[in-house]
Formats: sequence, structure tokens, C-alpha cells
Amino acid sequence: MRNPDWHLTRITTHLDFMAEGLRCGDLRLKWSNAEMPLGYWPIPAAVCVRGEGPTLLLAGGTHGDEFEGPTALMRLLARLPELRFQGRLILFPALNAPAVARSSRVSPLDGANLNRAFPGDANGQPTAMIAHLVESVVLPVCDAAIDFHSGGKASVFADSVLATRCEDRTLHEANLALAHAFAGPRIWVLGAQNDDRSFNAAAKRRGVPMIATELSGGGGVDPASVNLAHDGILRCMRHLRMIDLAPLPVHTPRLLEIASADHTLYAPCQGLFLPSFGPGEEVTAHAPAGTLYPLFEPERPPVALAFPASGVVLARINRGFVERGEMLATIATPYREANG
Ligand SMILES: [Zn+2]
Repeated sequence: MRNPDWHLTRITTHLDFMAEGLRCGDLRLKWSNAEMPLGYWPIPAAVCVRGEGPTLLLAGGTHGDEFEGPTALMRLLARLPELRFQGRLILFPALNAPAVARSSRVSPLDGANLNRAFPGDANGQPTAMIAHLVESVVLPVCDAAIDFHSGGKASVFADSVLATRCEDRTLHEANLALAHAFAGPRIWVLGAQNDDRSFNAAAKRRGVPMIATELSGGGGVDPASVNLAHDGILRCMRHLRMIDLAPLPVHTPRLLEIASADHTLYAPCQGLFLPSFGPGEEVTAHAPAGTLYPLFEPERPPVALAFPASGVVLARINRGFVERGEMLATIATPYREANG
């Protein structure tokens, strides 16, 4: 078990990451603006050490309008005083805390998207500072990590666990094993469509087995998805030999991928979108996907939309009024290793 290298970052903390027991507090992001000229922006954090064992990083709130993961982490935190396990848990339930406080996908401090900010910069803007902290200070002391996402206000996902495809076979297998251990209904294997500025890409660079989730969304808290997240953490802890558990119910997940950028249906024009499908549904290429009503051009006829591919709807937009170019549906197909 190693101590994070705090001198690499301008973000500070009073939390001891090495001592036995549970400590709660915050990471302190110093960013002086008109709202907070001389104070700090708190990023809530908890560290729990129970003897020697693996270190598992649990992060939520990478995007500030995705609440299932943060809720599951707070539920787990409430159990930690009584939970018996071996090793170290590091919890950041609101990693991009200024964004979470505003229910905003991006940071109100710099307008940046944390999941497009890796590897970050210790001397950069706030979001880059947080990304740098994760990739260069915290991940190097971790044996595994889970980053919880949801659809946010803009979309709703069919609950999925995301594992990054890696050229390094050991890491590739470790990512998939962690995803299987989580035991959600779907595993979405990230390949060529993944962005190398993401948390997943950071873990890949650091050689740390990692999964992310996409759990429901819509800007609220779906209780079934919170249950899945909470139980998934315990299952992953068992997989990492951190905890002895009576077996929890296990699903056999479907392995999926976004095989092509063309498997996303985008809005062809502005208007009101009436979908004919929900997240998780099986759909067929060219079948009706819904209708787009050009609200501000009432003289135009409604636009009939069709699915660009056959497969499972991984995500559906959660907005009524959409702009040209917005994601309306993302279709996943069965995972084929050859596509990597
Ligand atoms: Zn997200």
C-alpha cells in the first residue's frame, strides 16, 4: 500500500491515506475567482484502510449531472464503519465537485468536461488539475478503479458496465474480469470509439484495471441502478479478494460494442423528438425510430426517422426539443474481438 505523491499536485488534503480506519473530509482545490477569492473548492473524499490488501478507487460525479454513482457511493460510505474487508477503499463521490454542486455536466469554473481532460495538468485550469490528480497522483497507488457515470440530464442509458479494450492482454483480461465481476446486465467494450482524454484511457495508460458504468440517467436517481452500483462494488471487492461475501445474485451480461460511429442516430434538424423506443430495446436497421416535428418551421412536414443499425439501444436522448446534430439513439452490437 503506497501513499499518493501529493507534491505532484496543487490539490491538497488533510486526509491520511495510509492509517488504519475510516477518515472523511475533502480534497482542496484552490482556484481563486470572484465567487471564491481566497478559499478552496471542496471535493468530498473518504479513505478506509482495513489492513493490507488491494486499493480500490471509487469515483462518481466525474460529470456533475449523473447521480446514481454518487448516491451508491454515499450509501456505501454510510456502511463503511461496520463493513469488514481487507485493503483500502478511496471514495470520491463527487470528483468534479463544483459541477455536481450545480447539477452540471461540465465545470462551472472553466466550462471543461472532466472526462475529456485527461491526462490533465497540475498547473492548468480546475478541471485539468482534477484530471491530473486522478491520473498522476491517485491511480498510481490503485490496484483497480471504478468510475460511475449515468446518462445525465441529456440522456438515459440501458445499465451498462464499460471495459476498455487494451493491446496489453493482461490488462485487457483484467478489465473484462472486473466488468464480469460487477455483474451488470451489459458489458460495453470500449474500442476505437473511446476518447484517449477519458478516465478509462488514463487507467489504461497507468496499467490499472478499471471499469466505468453508464447507469440510467435523466438527471435524477434511479433506485434500481443505485442498487446495481452498490452491489456491483461489493462483487468487485470480492473479485479483488478484499471481502468475504455470501454470493449476491449474478446476471450473465451481454458483451456489446459501438462498432461504428455510424451506429448513432443524430437529429437531422431542430425540433421536437417523439421516440418510438426506449433504452435497452432491440431494434432493426431502417425500422422507425420516431418522429421529429420542426417546431419553428410549422409549414414543414414531420420528419420520420429510422434506426441506422440493428442492435440494442444503449442510450436514448432525454430531451424533447433537440438541435440538429444531437444524439437521439446509440446502437450497440454484439462485441467482436476482431474489431479492435
Ligand atoms: Zn458521464
